[in-house]
Amino acid sequence: MNSVIVIASNNAGKLREIDNLLSPLGYTLRPQADFAVTQACEPYPTFIENCLGKARHAAKSTGLPALADDSGLCVRALGGDPGVHSARYAGQTATDGANNAKLLASLAGIAQRDAYYYCVMVYLRHADDPQPLIAEGRWHGMIIDEARGSGGFGYDPHFYIPQLDKTAAELGMAEKNAISHRGKALSSLAAQLKHL
Ligand code: IMP
Repeated sequence: MNSVIVIASNNAGKLREIDNLLSPLGYTLRPQADFAVTQACEPYPTFIENCLGKARHAAKSTGLPALADDSGLCVRALGGDPGVHSARYAGQTATDGANNAKLLASLAGIAQRDAYYYCVMVYLRHADDPQPLIAEGRWHGMIIDEARGSGGFGYDPHFYIPQLDKTAAELGMAEKNAISHRGKALSSLAAQLKHL
């Protein structure tokens, strides 16, 4: 079996991670850029709706099965923010630095720092698939003021895992993928694909 899946993302790191888990199952992954698929909007207030929208857009544009993911950081003391706005927390063209600065400013004087990264993945056999495969993953930690580590991206230098006494930015890529929200969602999705 060699089935092609279009990935509704052009992020090279994500593609590598997904490829790592799904190519042994006989899937060939192709980024949506290979088919000149335009970036879908993410107008919804929930991760799952945005994810489904991205997968449907890629499936509709290519006629191929499609896989999308959506993720973000949810901080309890901020009512789940930045949440679906994680990439653009400090504005439409915000850098990681600006997003982190806004996060720390929002948490100034607040002792409760627990947070989790959340990831949802949706696989559609075709654009009108009435039964998408849906997989989720959560990764718990806490937000610290001091930036530590130079790996990862986004909020990783401030996302501290007490059990490891490390931030996500202090973990190697393989170490992070083994325990992260995206790693968990991806292995749950791989298990579901095995039973398709
Ligand atoms: P997206 O799923 O690519 O749309 O990512 C949404 C945003 O959530 C990213 O731009 C980051 O700000 C944040 N995010 C998601 N996953 C991670 C992670 O593993 N580390 C750091 N930030 C993340």
